[in-house]
Amino acid sequence: MVVRASDISVFDILRVGIGPSSSHTVGPMLAARRFREMIERHGASPGMSLRVELLGSLAATGKGHRTDEAVCAGLMGLDPAGSPMAEIWGAMDEIRRAGGVRIGGASIAFMPERDITWQAMPPPEQPLRHPNTLRFIAASPSIELTARSVGGGFVEYDGDAGPLVDEQAPEVRVPYLFDTAAELVELCGVQGRTMAEVALANELARGMTLAQVRDGLLDRWRIMREAIDAGLSTDGVLPGGLNVPRRAGRLYRHSLSERLPLARHADLRTSAYAMAVGEHNAAGGRIVTAPTNGAAGVLPAALHEVAREQNLPVTAILDGLLVAGLVAAIVKRGASLSGAEVGCQGEIGTASAMAAAATVAMLRGDARQIEAAAEIAIEHHLGLTCDPVGGLVQIPCIERNAMGAIKALNAAAMALASDGNHLVSLDRAVRVMKQTGHDLQAKYRETATGGLAGAFGSTGCA
Ligand code: SF4
Repeated sequence: MVVRASDISVFDILRVGIGPSSSHTVGPMLAARRFREMIERHGASPGMSLRVELLGSLAATGKGHRTDEAVCAGLMGLDPAGSPMAEIWGAMDEIRRAGGVRIGGASIAFMPERDITWQAMPPPEQPLRHPNTLRFIAASPSIELTARSVGGGFVEYDGDAGPLVDEQAPEVRVPYLFDTAAELVELCGVQGRTMAEVALANELARGMTLAQVRDGLLDRWRIMREAIDAGLSTDGVLPGGLNVPRRAGRLYRHSLSERLPLARHADLRTSAYAMAVGEHNAAGGRIVTAPTNGAAGVLPAALHEVAREQNLPVTAILDGLLVAGLVAAIVKRGASLSGAEVGCQGEIGTASAMAAAATVAMLRGDARQIEAAAEIAIEHHLGLTCDPVGGLVQIPCIERNAMGAIKALNAAAMALASDGNHLVSLDRAVRVMKQTGHDLQAKYRETATGGLAGAFGSTGCA
């Protein structure tokens, strides 16, 4: 159970998942897989019926986020981190062909068009505890599960859901306890530890060996790099109907030009990396949530650019990933990582703070400079709305990754040029994010009804 930020592992933040959304694709898939496990435990029967209700934001933008397909993949027992992509995206057709899903040796009738229902505006007398809610209802025998996909692939369940498919390891007491950035910075000073050392010690206390932590992070970094490469080397048009062209590869080639206006080679390169991941995610590719799918390009882009420009060893990248995980954990505890809860400030804003902090850590800045960098990055994303056109994680999301990465590098440079002293603390900025998100009207929180999405209508740009 998460009691403090220090209870959250970097591997819960940096999850291997599939595009296009951690809250609307990965979370629902994990929840459906969890429900399948419940049916297996209770015992499936051939006469069983099965329904899935997608509620709130999951219904409002679930089509664009492929939530129904993710639910089908989860019901078939597939895993966003490891199952072949073709099986995941073929699951809904497979269920249609079979007329149901096979669970625990029984064939259970299930047709996505009939048995998945979409309710964007639940009746006021039944308010949702979270805008990303889904309910699974089986009859004969009767089994129910309510799940809340709270962002970044985290899923909370109502009632006694039993052991979770995506559960954290058994509860452990980590050596370094903190819930706020102030506590973390103080702890680093008192203990004479870097932030990366604090993060590593806590991971080791969760039962992993040093080699396992290293390999796990290296694997995340490999997937991040592969997403950059895949995005840079793929042209064409993104799926979903908006006819959004892929631009990352062309932008990267442009960044190599000798005669660039304003000579912004590094900025364009970084933008191309970030957009490459965004495009790969939008196309349903495999990515690492950082802290969400929609914002998954910010951290890899910044780290890739800094490592390349400064010729840093891979150990520096690992330090950066560990510190990025700490920042996301603090924001998750103090505000939210979910666009449906607090708008895009919780996704791209947090990603930018993670990347800024990671960059400072990689360049050997101290804890106060790391905290300052994260605060600068968050501060200048406050109020950012979530308004994906057509409910697709494409406009403004893909370009927004580029902007988040550039701001992160700027924030890191500003923090490194200072002694780390600054007036607005990261904790205060996180509190303001939470309050601002609370004050945002629902149309600006991943319902695809306000902002750019509202300007284009629910069907997008056409
Ligand atoms: S606008 Fe931001 S929060 Fe909303 S889906 Fe896009 S990246 Fe996520």
